[in-house]
Amino acid sequence: MSRPDPIAIARDLLRCPSVTPAEGGALAYLANVLGAAGFAVHRMTFSEPGTADVENLYARIGDGAPHLMFAGHTDVVPPGDPKTWTHAPFGGEIADGVLYGRGAVDMKGAIACKVAATLEYLAANGGKPKGSISFLITGDEEGVAINGSPKLLKWAAARGEKFSHCILGEPGNVAELGDTIKLGRRGSQNGVLVVTGKQGHVAYPHRADNPVRGLVKIMSALMDEPLDKGSTHFDPSNLEFTSIDIGNPTVNLIPGEARARFNIRFNDCHNYASLKALVEQRAAAAGDKTRWRIDWEPSNADVFYTEPGEFTDRIVGSIVEATGRKPKLSTSGGTSDARFIKDYCPVVEFGLVGTTMHAVDEQVPVADLTALTAVYRKILDKYFG
Ligand SMILES: [Zn+2]
Repeated sequence: MSRPDPIAIARDLLRCPSVTPAEGGALAYLANVLGAAGFAVHRMTFSEPGTADVENLYARIGDGAPHLMFAGHTDVVPPGDPKTWTHAPFGGEIADGVLYGRGAVDMKGAIACKVAATLEYLAANGGKPKGSISFLITGDEEGVAINGSPKLLKWAAARGEKFSHCILGEPGNVAELGDTIKLGRRGSQNGVLVVTGKQGHVAYPHRADNPVRGLVKIMSALMDEPLDKGSTHFDPSNLEFTSIDIGNPTVNLIPGEARARFNIRFNDCHNYASLKALVEQRAAAAGDKTRWRIDWEPSNADVFYTEPGEFTDRIVGSIVEATGRKPKLSTSGGTSDARFIKDYCPVVEFGLVGTTMHAVDEQVPVADLTALTAVYRKILDKYFG
């Protein structure tokens, strides 16, 4: 067999128009490639009222421990107007050593590297790992993430799958391949501050109670002081107001209600309950005379952190050997499916460079695909010894 080519695999995947929730042929392609290599492949479609059905894939080779899971998603965000792209977003074109396409870095490129590295590893080890390797690939990461990783992980656990460690291929490198691995991510919580007053004529304010006054006071209190000083591994938690909603078109009317939406990115100083309590305490201190409440939205984005140790050392060592760079251990950025995986096994994120993700002309240097494949290959060698 010729050497597995991550660039060819990446191009094939990029030609699949798999905008969430469409499968676009991407999972069928992976099912073929992994099935041919001896993986037991399961393609699972999950449903939920009010959301689109989504296809997912789970493939495993080997039956013993340790069990390394490669996790990722083949769905992509829409390309926008294709005319704004220099190369067709689903063309898989290469120009001047750069591969273009929606999903090039987020994250079909990394999946291609994982597949190529795994095939190489298997070819060098008689077709079987010294343990187990699995691919847990969802088609619902960029969307609402309901019919994807959470259900796929639950399904796998129910059939007795036990994972030792996971590498998620999100593009967390900042400027160069190998500069960053993510050991954690902050949690995310949305809320709406609602202040109720009394409607009335602006010329007779004593007969009304303007909720804007209370809203501004509480907002200011919530924005004033940081929620914490940060922790050993994380930056301080942060609350940002994203919208103020009164919706009053009338110039001479004091509104009866005012609302402000906010999002909190929180670190491991908090859990959901303590975070909500802290915010409500501050609101209460600032808004004693106003009638306020906070409507908290349900959140499935809890904070996570994987302690450095043998597993992360192997990843760092592989990156140093393959790229010559010593990665920074980071916990910055938005949420990812690691928030679900962390309930099943320790998870670390390492993939491509994120600069062009979700952007027009999303692209990856071909050299990065070769280098990332080398990193994953070294990880497999070190992991299974
Ligand atoms: Zn992604």
